[in-house]
Amino acid sequence: MSIVVSKFGGTSMGNYEAMSRAAQISMERNSAIVCVSATSGTTDKLIEIAKLASTGAMSDCEKSVFTVKERHTGLLHETKANSEVEGQLNNLYTELDLLVQNLSLLKELTPRAYDHILSLGERMSSLIFRQVLKSQWPSREVHLLDARSVIKTDSNFGKATPIIDEIEKECKSRLILDGKNVYVTQGFIGSDLKGNTTVLGRGGSDYSAALIAEGAHADVCEIWTDVAGIATTDPRVVKEARIINELSYQEAAEMAQYGAKVLHPATIAPAVRRGIPVFVGSTFEKELPGTWIRSEAKEKPAIRAITQRKAQALLTITTPSMFNAHGFMSEIFSIFGQHRISVDCVTTSEISVAVTVDKATLENERFIKDLESVGKLHIESGYSLISLIGNELFNRSSMAKTIFSALEDVNVRMMSLGASSYNFNFLVKDEAGVSCIQRLHKALIENA
Ligand code: ADP
Ligand code: ASP
Ligand code: MG
Repeated sequence: MSIVVSKFGGTSMGNYEAMSRAAQISMERNSAIVCVSATSGTTDKLIEIAKLASTGAMSDCEKSVFTVKERHTGLLHETKANSEVEGQLNNLYTELDLLVQNLSLLKELTPRAYDHILSLGERMSSLIFRQVLKSQWPSREVHLLDARSVIKTDSNFGKATPIIDEIEKECKSRLILDGKNVYVTQGFIGSDLKGNTTVLGRGGSDYSAALIAEGAHADVCEIWTDVAGIATTDPRVVKEARIINELSYQEAAEMAQYGAKVLHPATIAPAVRRGIPVFVGSTFEKELPGTWIRSEAKEKPAIRAITQRKAQALLTITTPSMFNAHGFMSEIFSIFGQHRISVDCVTTSEISVAVTVDKATLENERFIKDLESVGKLHIESGYSLISLIGNELFNRSSMAKTIFSALEDVNVRMMSLGASSYNFNFLVKDEAGVSCIQRLHKALIENA
């Protein structure tokens, strides 16, 4: 029997009709585990609620709390659930009210409270979706599985790291995968070894699905979203973008890492560890072929896709002394390691290192202080990292001309090619990003 894990994103949980489609797909694919996101926009609303409560802006906070409750109560009523389920939803509302009360009293938003409040989005949507699936699939026992009992993580609130062995152990002991049972569970959330609620980072439901697929030794992991698969670039930016039917793990991982929002950057790693194929398709056009991600793709075009990661900052650290240049590099990278900040794009010279990071990283005051302790730090922001994802990029000498003619009048602030044969990155001002993508897509993909 083949074990299928299906994940449905926020738009696929957005209203009753979308939930019904997701349920229909789960039945057609004979899913054993269905992992769902919060309803579209709810995680953003919960973030807003947490911030408003902890700054004492109670009247706006209450309005937002009301909106969240009203939406989910309305959805639950459409499922014609019984009073027990309504009671469970009300318990989640009580949890939300208590958290809001605490935040407003303490006027402090701790990372632990933040994760707890964010977890409510997925816990509400999964409760409702289970009802939808249950009524549409009477031949199966449809359970609600609390992801916090399975997705075990460390205590790095906000972006917790999963503990793979624990997840596998929990999947083994909690799931009966005999074709009669179906589990609806939450994406995005988990718990640490003390039982505190944690989250895997924004967009983390894709990652949850892949982790469960790995833990449950699934045969396939399906990501159902609002686009018909992974495209050559974001179809909302370039309407000529086309869906890629087959991608290698490596290419998909590079795309996700460098900004293709359709997949959370960590999604591919669990799939690679167990060789699980990943499918990406649209809940709203389920008959389309979508994208399959496997260890090898038959075709290996020079340029497969183009991605953009917005809101990047460029940090340049210059050594105060020419005599310690080698120790200086290791000091810098150990600071990144200590703060668990990944380096996306880097160039070095004898006396300085330039690194791009997400702009949000600048809020980490201790990280910035630590960098300042090793050298002179210069910060520039407002950049986009544009990445060309492809194959054997360092053997394609003729391509440089096409790339630079397409970007003739663009000021490229930094470039990196050579660390991997799969990508070529360069940094441009945020406002130039869209036009760069459109021009590169035309030159390297549409006219290739
Ligand atoms: P979900 O809520 O289903 O997880 P997301 O909004 O996280 O959905 O991801 C889907 C979105 O990713 C699409 O609507 C699309 O705008 C965006 N996207 C960015 N790059 C790509 C790409 N290369 N291919 C497909 N979609 C992309
Ligand atoms: N609901 C979470 C978010 O909006 C996780 C997800 O949708 O993947 O970030
Ligand atoms: Mg997503």
